[in-house]
Amino acid sequence: MNYHAIVFALVITVTSTARAWDAIGHLLVDCVAAERLTPAARQAADELVKQLEFPGRAYDFITAGCWMDDIKTRRKDVPYHGMFKPWHYIDLGVGPLAPAPEFPATVTLEDYQEGDIVRGLNRAVAVLRGGDDPLIKNRAVALAMVLHLTGDIHQPLHGAAWYFTATETDAGGNAVVIANSTRALTPAQKARGYKPHYALHYFWDTAYRAKFKDGQVLIEEAKDYEEPSAAAEAGPHWFDFTARAPDAAAAAQVTDFKAWALEDHALAREKVYGALRFDETHRQTTLSREYVESSRELARRQITLAGWRLAELLNRVLDPEYLKTQKAKPASGGEF
Ligand SMILES: [Zn+2]
Repeated sequence: MNYHAIVFALVITVTSTARAWDAIGHLLVDCVAAERLTPAARQAADELVKQLEFPGRAYDFITAGCWMDDIKTRRKDVPYHGMFKPWHYIDLGVGPLAPAPEFPATVTLEDYQEGDIVRGLNRAVAVLRGGDDPLIKNRAVALAMVLHLTGDIHQPLHGAAWYFTATETDAGGNAVVIANSTRALTPAQKARGYKPHYALHYFWDTAYRAKFKDGQVLIEEAKDYEEPSAAAEAGPHWFDFTARAPDAAAAAQVTDFKAWALEDHALAREKVYGALRFDETHRQTTLSREYVESSRELARRQITLAGWRLAELLNRVLDPEYLKTQKAKPASGGEF
């Protein structure tokens, strides 16, 4: 089994805690971005991803977006293993008991268990620009973070969580099960009492390829690929992003990661939670055909938008000529 197959198997088997687009989702974001990079930005990015350290693996621009999930491994020989887990999301509150959305201002820079996706993106971009950070040791790691987190922040459940009480959340939909879905469990998961259903979070991680048939939610199995270079072909297999373009205003809003998170929050409120019927505990739901199909369309839009914004960000940061040739001006008040 090659390493991406392993990554994907992991995503499937840890659905109760996984917090990301799945591996193919990240490849898709990187594929969209790759089409829009300037040659200079692409060359700089290609040089950096080669320097990513992971024993037995080599990355290219397309697969480097999976590095942050790959380091979730328990392998002690993997640099950064187990680090940065809270950096994949921010739980802006949804529901009548939720506190008002706020962005924590302070952070202990040396503590990788502290932080969120907005602060993570800001720190990674600062290092990519040549700055120092006590946890992000080089620009290759910074680039891998920017690739991954730009993808994550466009998955609505990476910017929001339902509040069961004033303090207890559904962890971005991880604690909500979809009754009309079936997932295979390992013996260990069965022994631990896992439910044989997908979680709402996992549905959104894979919604770009979700289907509805005979009353059931189906997640189409992901096609595997053997080599990192084949990822460029595996990505577009799922939908034709070249025919899509996000609306210009949304795509141009590239310099403010808080704005991206607030978009997530609004989408989660209206399209993820607002369009659902829950049981009385708010921990179980049944998806309709309409919900599955509109979610698939929204997820594809979000992946495309993430790719466009990722390319814009990398062109600005990695290509010194970009802003001059585009006659674009950095937005005021933004982070980059
Ligand atoms: Zn992630």
